[in-house]
Amino acid sequence: MWRIVAEVVLLPAIYALSSGAVSAAPEAALPVRQIASGVYVFNGVTAEQDAHNRGAIANLGFVVGSRCVAVIDTGGSPAVGEALRASVRAVTALPVCYVINTHVHPDHLLGNQAFLGDKPVFVGHARLPAALAARGRTYVASAERLMGDTGRGIELVPPSRTVSDQDTLDLGGRMLHLRAWPTAHTDNDLTVLDEASGTLFAGDLLFVEHMPVVDGKLAGWIRVTDTLAAADVKAVVSGHGDAGAAWRDAFAKQGNYLRALADQTKAAIKAGRTLSQAVDEVARDQTANWALSELFHRRNVTAAFAELEWED
Ligand SMILES: [Zn+2]
Repeated sequence: MWRIVAEVVLLPAIYALSSGAVSAAPEAALPVRQIASGVYVFNGVTAEQDAHNRGAIANLGFVVGSRCVAVIDTGGSPAVGEALRASVRAVTALPVCYVINTHVHPDHLLGNQAFLGDKPVFVGHARLPAALAARGRTYVASAERLMGDTGRGIELVPPSRTVSDQDTLDLGGRMLHLRAWPTAHTDNDLTVLDEASGTLFAGDLLFVEHMPVVDGKLAGWIRVTDTLAAADVKAVVSGHGDAGAAWRDAFAKQGNYLRALADQTKAAIKAGRTLSQAVDEVARDQTANWALSELFHRRNVTAAFAELEWED
């Protein structure tokens, strides 16, 4: 069951400057919903990052134990991180002891620096530091270009604790089980299961409404999608969009798209089609099912082509 307790927190921030950041005004708290006891979620808008949304485009959350709080993803800018921090402070005075990043994409971790003053342990997949080192500067440049002032002054915060297989974090009477996955959406996808409520934070291993974006391995993501569709959990928080109770259907829909992409790209390669022909032809019937397909579908076919070109 997906228990939606209609508790919307939209309060003026109880604000503390962190990491010496200079900010003109305290950030208002992000509107979060309590989806299970002690589990709070902010749903990002389905869009590209821009100056208006300030990078609040991914779903973010936090889990409150009896000792401390774990934040799961921090948003696409320091301002969104500050706003998420204000949401935490509006709910509890307990310290933030963990900040967990589900993967390297900027809309999930450019808000990390807002939590530096809390001195949490930053947690990520074992391959996250390398991915951040390779991509970080590009992400910072894009943030400045796409978000203006909001995108300036970004400090990249890599994990101080990494997970190569599984790990467990104790929030005080409340355990979070972390799992590092083989390459799927990216090569550094990490999921977080709150044992007490049975809520799985899937990060971008699940896209809802927003077209799935392939930045890892199509074959691996199809396998992980099938595994998670059958997961023995009560609720799933996707990285984008909100499937509510219908999260198993959402995994199935995502699997259909990824399979169409893989099968039709393989067929195009076999038929001797060029990359540009494949980009125009593959899985075109699928694009109407998703938002932002004009931004991501061609890129997905290009990624699929590169992955599958040298397969037998
Ligand atoms: Zn992502």
